[in-house]
Amino acid sequence: MNPLSVAVIGAGPAGIYASDILSKSGLDVSIDLLERLPAPYGLVRYGVAPDHPRIKQIIVALYKILQRGDIRLIGNVEVGRDISVAELRQHYDAIVLATGADTDVTLDIPGIDAPESYGGADFVSWYDGHPDHPRTWDLSAKEVAVIGVGNVALDIARVLAKRPEDLMTTEIPANVAAGLVASPVTDVHVFGRRGPAQVRFTPLELRELGRQRDVDVTVDEEDFEYDAGSEEALRASNQQRQVVKALEGYAMQEPQDLTASRTIRIHLFEAPHEVLLDEGGHVRALRTERTRLNGDGSVSGTGVFRDWPCQAVYRAVGYAGSAVEGLPFDIERHVVPNEGGRVLGEDGAPLRGVYATGWIRRGPVGLIGSTKSDAQETIAHLVADAQAGLLHADDEAQPGHEAVMALLEQRGVPYTTWQGWELLDAYERRLGEDHGPVEVTGGGLRTRERVKVVSREAMTAISRGAGAPEDPAALIGEPDPQRVPDRVAHRLAR
Ligand SMILES: Cc1cc2nc3c(=O)[nH]c(=O)nc-3n(C[C@H](O)[C@H](O)[C@H](O)COP(=O)(O)OP(=O)(O)OC[C@H]3O[C@@H](n4cnc5c(N)ncnc54)[C@H](O)[C@@H]3O)c2cc1C
Repeated sequence: MNPLSVAVIGAGPAGIYASDILSKSGLDVSIDLLERLPAPYGLVRYGVAPDHPRIKQIIVALYKILQRGDIRLIGNVEVGRDISVAELRQHYDAIVLATGADTDVTLDIPGIDAPESYGGADFVSWYDGHPDHPRTWDLSAKEVAVIGVGNVALDIARVLAKRPEDLMTTEIPANVAAGLVASPVTDVHVFGRRGPAQVRFTPLELRELGRQRDVDVTVDEEDFEYDAGSEEALRASNQQRQVVKALEGYAMQEPQDLTASRTIRIHLFEAPHEVLLDEGGHVRALRTERTRLNGDGSVSGTGVFRDWPCQAVYRAVGYAGSAVEGLPFDIERHVVPNEGGRVLGEDGAPLRGVYATGWIRRGPVGLIGSTKSDAQETIAHLVADAQAGLLHADDEAQPGHEAVMALLEQRGVPYTTWQGWELLDAYERRLGEDHGPVEVTGGGLRTRERVKVVSREAMTAISRGAGAPEDPAALIGEPDPQRVPDRVAHRLAR
């Protein structure tokens, strides 16, 4: 019998771990890893903040998996656009969906559609140099509101408030550096509707916030209230106790110690109520409603409102996955309906040979490490189904890889490969070196590890061996209008 042919869709951590685990499962298997971008690594490259190089080091482990050569990376191919799910199901014995999350959960309050009201995911895509997002970002606001009390809200607040010089040792592309340098921001307000025992920050990231040069962090003293539900939550979680300790540390600072030119102000028990607009329809303030604890850790509104002057609002209330055409999608939970990673059809029964893993399976929560355990469970089910004879459709071998490559060639899809990524990776590292040593805050010089190429066209040309464009501006380029997400195009058109 021919090897089991499997297409894994999405080369983020979930897709790479799933491919790795499958390749070591003992099954005779042929794996294609399809990725819509010319670069692998998903949100590790396009989500994790540029000033978190330690976390980006996970790429080293993912690199080693793909470098082995037994998993074929096929980049610059979007499933649902360049090739359909139906075609993949026809050509492979099984498909594993690992398409992650790339957009924001909506927040239904008046004024949220204002031009200066942004989805945090779009800002993250901008500062991380995602090829399908516009190259400029309006950073003219002096006062900014960030809605949400998770780590993505912290990333956004930190990047907005950070002295731009302190990002110059990172991989940020030139357009992002130029945008951040021009920012006149002085106050970044972060709002959470519940209290310190309920915030979703992690201690490390919260403490890091206070270590930025020329940036103060404050928390309102009256924001430390606890009910029985809060006390129970704190008893149960050492991590949450550390978070509260860090918040208290910020609240207890003496006024004379707060001398920085930029301040991140954390406000708890303030539920966003309305984005207030001026006569021209631009953001002028965020109105919040004070909340109080109900006893079980939940909160209710008090009817007391307050307006916080600001000229831009960022919402960071959760990431959301997107539907892939041809597969079911749960629009409430932003996941593909599944049972232990086996994707369920409309009738609630598993679809033969279709699996899901990572954020698209579980929802957009959890750190990179959790995508590994997730992949273990999904692949265990795939292997069990293969061993039960459920996946090889009939005695006819599936043409798999060759048929799909022929289809892509026939359609003129400029796909990229692992060897192509190695070319692009080396090119980006050279760009980092060419930049020369950069002064590090606190003294010393450091060479930039890489500088990202942003333009999809340039990424593809370098990956396909056509070389880099001569004009450095073409490394940034402009996004292909057909690929800019609709929500972003609508906002820009307003
Ligand atoms: C802003 C932000 C910061 C984070 N910071 C940290 C951190 O500091 N530490 C940490 O541990 N975790 C962090 N995380 C969480 C971490 O990024 C996720 O746990 C992890 O990336 C989820 O992996 P995934 O593979 O499921 O999804 P993703 O990483 O989203 O990967 C999905 C991949 O699928 C591709 N894809 C999507 N649709 C298609 C399609 N139709 N066809 C082909 N390919 C497709 C995408 O391009 C992408 O490459 C952060 C997340 C965010 C959003």
